[in-house]
Amino acid sequence: MAIHTGEGSPVRFNFVDRKLIRQCVHCGLCLSSCPTYKILGSELDSPRGRVYQMRALQEGKIKVDDPDFRLHIDRCLNCRACETACPSGVQYGQLLEATRAVIPSRSGTESLLRSVVLNRVFTTPWLLGALGTGMRFYQKSGLQAVARATGLLNKLPLNLGKLEALLPPMQGGVIKAGLPEIIPARGSQRCRVALITGCVQDQFFSLTNSATARVLAMNGCEVVVPRGQVCCGALHTHGGERETARGLARRNIALFETTGADFYIINATGCGSTLKEYHYLLADDRQWAERADRFSSKVRDVSEFLASIELNRNFGEIRARVTYQDACHLIHGQKISEQPRALIQMIPGLELVEMKESDTCCGSAGIYNVTQYDLSIQLLERKIDNLTATKASLIVAGNPGCIIQIAHGIRQRGLPIEVIHPVDLLDRAYRRANK
Ligand code: SF4
Ligand code: SF4
Repeated sequence: MAIHTGEGSPVRFNFVDRKLIRQCVHCGLCLSSCPTYKILGSELDSPRGRVYQMRALQEGKIKVDDPDFRLHIDRCLNCRACETACPSGVQYGQLLEATRAVIPSRSGTESLLRSVVLNRVFTTPWLLGALGTGMRFYQKSGLQAVARATGLLNKLPLNLGKLEALLPPMQGGVIKAGLPEIIPARGSQRCRVALITGCVQDQFFSLTNSATARVLAMNGCEVVVPRGQVCCGALHTHGGERETARGLARRNIALFETTGADFYIINATGCGSTLKEYHYLLADDRQWAERADRFSSKVRDVSEFLASIELNRNFGEIRARVTYQDACHLIHGQKISEQPRALIQMIPGLELVEMKESDTCCGSAGIYNVTQYDLSIQLLERKIDNLTATKASLIVAGNPGCIIQIAHGIRQRGLPIEVIHPVDLLDRAYRRANK
């Protein structure tokens, strides 16, 4: 990498970011927790090395389009394991997102993908819905089976065949059933919550959203499902499309303010992390900063919320050996690890066994399994090795990305293991009690 003095244009990070960069004291205590450092063994692919490169960028010693710099920043999973390990409180996720936001697109194809996929499809609910319907039709009409059997997919350009193999079976029918706008509480009402249905979550895992609404209602919540909600902007902030993310955040804040809900519940942990950080995203927007702060203070991951109330424990038995995958943005982004385990342990018949490196990224990381396919698969292989060592027949994970990635690894090895969201597990236990 060309680190030079005086040649590059110093890149303007805002004040918070400059302060964050200086918080790194180069102690190296984060290195052993970094998945890319563990795999690649290079300082430049470690948190300390990346913060050093960000500082060099800020001081104009690296050019923003330096290909080596971009490589090391691109290889970062934004898993934030380094934040958990860092004794100096470096908010690495914020730094990475600010850095990615100043890096220009590398090619025409990347630019096109960003403007079409991130800035158009993910910001327009009907387009996203149409794409979801098309994908469900592809799977459920038998087209997928034919395409896979004929080997046609392997002839596609841009690794599309490999990426297609990642597609999980999408829940629901070709036409997705929606949730009613209001789901009344069962029994006496404790509170009113608004359900954030997500974009990928709603298209791939609509039944998990239904299960979430049922479980909340079983626990005395009146559930509002606001119409017109949009993608939370997580993929955009992680990918450096900050302005788009800010626009999406403003739309969601304005909508959810009208719900009168006590809490905003999310069951996708990557989205939860972004929603809880809207106040960072809009910190320098005078008109929206306070509203963003209020919004973020009401966001709860569904496991976090359910573990904080006196839970209805009318569960039926589920006999299984189960392990738990800590989604990065739940454990490192939101510091939540005990609550989902506590919920699992409330279900009779389940034996919870801990998996080695349960807090290490599975390689999904937003669109990492698309942009950094080979590294992502190396991380997945390691995850599946650790999973099989537990001899569990169920693995619980709270993020759609982890569920898709781990299910892919399991399919590839033909293992008899089910991947399930914690709220689907609770819903199953409630249903068994009522049989
Ligand atoms: S976010 Fe994850 S991959 Fe990136 S530097 Fe931190 S620990 Fe490493
Ligand atoms: S642990 Fe924190 S302070 Fe130490 S090198 Fe890593 S980021 Fe810097």
